[in-house]
Amino acid sequence: MTLSDVRGARAAIMGVADGTPLVPSPFLSGVAGAEVLLKLESMQPMGAFKLRGALNAIRALPGGAPGVVCCSTGNHGRAVAWAARAQGLRAVVCLSTLVPEAKVSGIRALGAELRIVGRSQDDAQEEASRLSAAGGLVEIPPFDDPAVIAGQGTIALELIEARPDLRTLLVPLSGGGLAAGIAVAVKAIDPSIRVIGLTMDRGAAMHAALRAGRPVPVEEVASLADSLGGGIGLANRHTFALCRELLDEVVLVGEDEIYRGMQALYWEDRLVAEGACAVGVAALLSGRLAGLAAPIATIVTGRNVDMGVFTRVVTGQDVTLGAHLVRGRAWDTTSAS
Ligand SMILES: *Cc1c(COP(=O)(O)O)cnc(C)c1O
Repeated sequence: MTLSDVRGARAAIMGVADGTPLVPSPFLSGVAGAEVLLKLESMQPMGAFKLRGALNAIRALPGGAPGVVCCSTGNHGRAVAWAARAQGLRAVVCLSTLVPEAKVSGIRALGAELRIVGRSQDDAQEEASRLSAAGGLVEIPPFDDPAVIAGQGTIALELIEARPDLRTLLVPLSGGGLAAGIAVAVKAIDPSIRVIGLTMDRGAAMHAALRAGRPVPVEEVASLADSLGGGIGLANRHTFALCRELLDEVVLVGEDEIYRGMQALYWEDRLVAEGACAVGVAALLSGRLAGLAAPIATIVTGRNVDMGVFTRVVTGQDVTLGAHLVRGRAWDTTSAS
């Protein structure tokens, strides 16, 4: 996996899944005391950056493939459904019952067949592997795949072209396809740019693996950052090694902090964004990233949030996540312009 794979991916997705806006956040720049930029992957056609990797992987398939199958926490499935439809291919998406209804219906609306199985991403993964072994469907993995990683890495090329002076990149981290792809490109172009992975402190599989020195089982629980749930695979082949080698740091944030991050993005930057996008914002707000070199960019990875939950968060109401309660607290909008 090298910079040239990422450049190849860029040519493959050009004009379809690229060119998202990079906008300043005056509010976060004030909080950080340094320039903060937001890369709006939430503006992708299906609402998340995952289209980059899925489209790159699907366009690389040999002719005559009968269709594709994947497992997903939601956005990868939606991206695969979108890209498969664009290529005229059948798509089957395997999801666990933890995936929010808003994501399930979004995938269904794109014409994909759904299989809802088990209570974890591992269960959904098993079903996807079974279907691919049985039916000839080609599996498009959500993160641990060179074409997917290279596709996600194209974000870094756009960021560095727009801002060659970029110093720090805050990247939401789950299976690590996004962080690995970005880090491969960034570190090849300028190793002095800091790449920091951000994730929730409940069920953070990549963080646990990096600490243990190998992938370890992690219990998956409900989170405001639902797109960051799920394991990295005990037989992980690519993203674990790349994240271990290339990420400068991994920082964890709590559900209360993600809640505040979503409020900040909404009230201050006027953005509808998933909890998964708010981890970088959350870490800046909490002050635990003080002293970073600027400009700092974070990636607003997707907008496919359950609007019922979103409304509760931005209006300061309690949110229940399984057995976990996030206590409501209204955003002080007096600072909002
Ligand atoms: C998938 C996803 C992530 C994390 O990406 P990984 O490649 O799994 O680390 C972050 N945010 C959103 C919205 C996602 O859908």
